[in-house]
Amino acid sequence: MDLDFTEEQRMIREMTRKFAEEEIVPSSRRNDITENFPREIINKMARVGLLGGPVPKEYGGSDLDYISHAIVTEEIGRADSSVRTTISVQISLVELTILRWGSEEQKKKYLPQLCSGRMIGCFGLTEPDAGSDAANQSTSAKKEGSEWIIDGRKIWISNGDFADIAIIFAQTDKEKGYEGITAFLVEKETPGFSTRRISGKLGLRASDTAELILDGCRVLAGSMLGKEGEGFKIAMSALDNGRYSVAAGCVGIIQGCLDLSSRYARERRQFGRPIGSFQLVQDMIARMGVDLEAAKLLVYKAGHLKNKGLQSTLETSMAKYFASEAAVRAATDAIQIFGAYGYSDENPVERYYRDAKVATIYEGTSQIQKLIIGSHILGIKAFT
Ligand SMILES: Cc1cc2nc3c(=O)[nH]c(=O)nc-3n(C[C@H](O)[C@H](O)[C@H](O)COP(=O)(O)OP(=O)(O)OC[C@H]3O[C@@H](n4cnc5c(N)ncnc54)[C@H](O)[C@@H]3O)c2cc1C
Repeated sequence: MDLDFTEEQRMIREMTRKFAEEEIVPSSRRNDITENFPREIINKMARVGLLGGPVPKEYGGSDLDYISHAIVTEEIGRADSSVRTTISVQISLVELTILRWGSEEQKKKYLPQLCSGRMIGCFGLTEPDAGSDAANQSTSAKKEGSEWIIDGRKIWISNGDFADIAIIFAQTDKEKGYEGITAFLVEKETPGFSTRRISGKLGLRASDTAELILDGCRVLAGSMLGKEGEGFKIAMSALDNGRYSVAAGCVGIIQGCLDLSSRYARERRQFGRPIGSFQLVQDMIARMGVDLEAAKLLVYKAGHLKNKGLQSTLETSMAKYFASEAAVRAATDAIQIFGAYGYSDENPVERYYRDAKVATIYEGTSQIQKLIIGSHILGIKAFT
């Protein structure tokens, strides 16, 4: 694994950081307080190619290698996890899933629209009774002539209220369990499809989260993504990409916490000395620094495998598990280092603290990541 960045990767970091500081950071606090989904920022990101990720240019993408993709995601995560969540879903759960599993017609129809921000996408897997146990889908799809009729509810869906297109997972053959799940591309205007915004979240308050309601929702057979019964495989492959993006976003949070905390620890004086000279403060800074390096290395290892087109489920789970827990630790310590000044929403570390927590929950909780990791190491499945 080459640990040096290329000149192009360095430029991508510089360009994304500049964009994030000029276009995202100035409105982050206001959007957090008002729970405003900043659609205009997503449009601006699209204009500079930040929604194209590793999607090839022929489909309107940016054709990034996976390390560059992580660098972009880190920088957006350092600025604002709500925006980072929006693009993680857009690129990693929707675009890359259509790229891998879509027909040529579906790729040509949707990818240029998604990469250019003309369409927003969402990923509807979780249901009221199917969270960690995602295979336990209640949403059903029944065939009627050349159409499928979908009925069910999806909950906690990022981008859900703003999305123009949703990837929906539904049971097409209950008898077959997870092998009877099928994925569909459902457009917002489809009769029977509606959404309900969820507000009042602990963090990610500028990220749109919604319930999706499918009530006799009719889609044509051509809306199926992949083949009948391939839905669970599609969902798991999508999560391999989604978790990679979450992990990279968490690296951004840790970096942000370290940048702010180390500057403050040098400037803030108590007992006549900078607080950074106290060993107990250095202890927190040191742990943050080590966590940052370890999280980065885990992310880049998974990215390296992805660049080679190799399976990376284990490495991606390790990166997601470690980076999300480390982001929570970093944000907790950052508030501690700032003392009372970290306890106010005037300070970005307060938002890092509220935003970091969800990364240990969505796209598979930390417990689920540990079961994936344990199962891979032992060769014994932890799930029935
Ligand atoms: C802000 C936000 C955005 C989200 N965005 C999306 C999205 O875009 N698309 C989507 O499909 N979903 C989304 N989700 C849903 C998310 O993926 C689920 O919340 C997550 O998978 C956990 O499911 P659950 O909340 O139902 O918890 P549960 O599965 O009910 O788990 C509750 C607790 O039990 C533990 N647990 C469960 N099973 C086991 C086990 N076998 N062993 C040990 N412990 C276990 C869990 O780790 C957790 O601590 C989002 C959630 C949030 C909060």
